[in-house]
Amino acid sequence: MDKISLLGKDFQTFISSDEIDQITSKIASSIENDFKGQEILFIAVLNGAFIFASDVIRKIKQPCSISFIKCSSYSGTTSSGSVKNLIGLDEDITGKTIVLLEDIIDTGLTVSFIINELKNKGAHKIKIASLLFKPECCKTNLKIDYLGREIPDRFVIGYGMDFNALGRNLESIYIQI
Ligand code: 5GP
Repeated sequence: MDKISLLGKDFQTFISSDEIDQITSKIASSIENDFKGQEILFIAVLNGAFIFASDVIRKIKQPCSISFIKCSSYSGTTSSGSVKNLIGLDEDITGKTIVLLEDIIDTGLTVSFIINELKNKGAHKIKIASLLFKPECCKTNLKIDYLGREIPDRFVIGYGMDFNALGRNLESIYIQI
């Protein structure tokens, strides 16, 4: 098992890049099935979802566009539970169906907040695609339309996800030990 240390904390390999590749292929093909003949508007949540988003959209073989938003609520290894604000969405989403791309859903508060904001801006329908989900932590009643994997209530890094800004570049996902 591959181990790494970052800022004094230890992590071990949890989801390999091969497994991530299979997960993103499955998610992309489910989205394509649901959006046959329709143009897809993806909105990816920065920073954590940037690699997941780039892998998923490159596997989509029909017309699609992507925008990025940012919504910061998390620092260190535990969720603060408070969502601050949403930035970056300058296009008109009135009447649009959106696929929201998230790296990980923990309490669910971030995604719930974003969905609310997108609805207030006139979105018709929002589908959620999340690479990871921590069911033990979820405080909201979210329906995740495209889910990669459920994981236990443990802190993970890599594949876009950070620990105090480090670790996003790791190809695999690592879990804190
Ligand atoms: P939520 O609002 O669902 O509690 O938190 C969602 C956000 O918290 C994610 O988009 C991600 O940025 C961050 N987050 C939650 N769990 C983890 C984790 O295990 N590792 C990392 N790196 N970020 C996490």
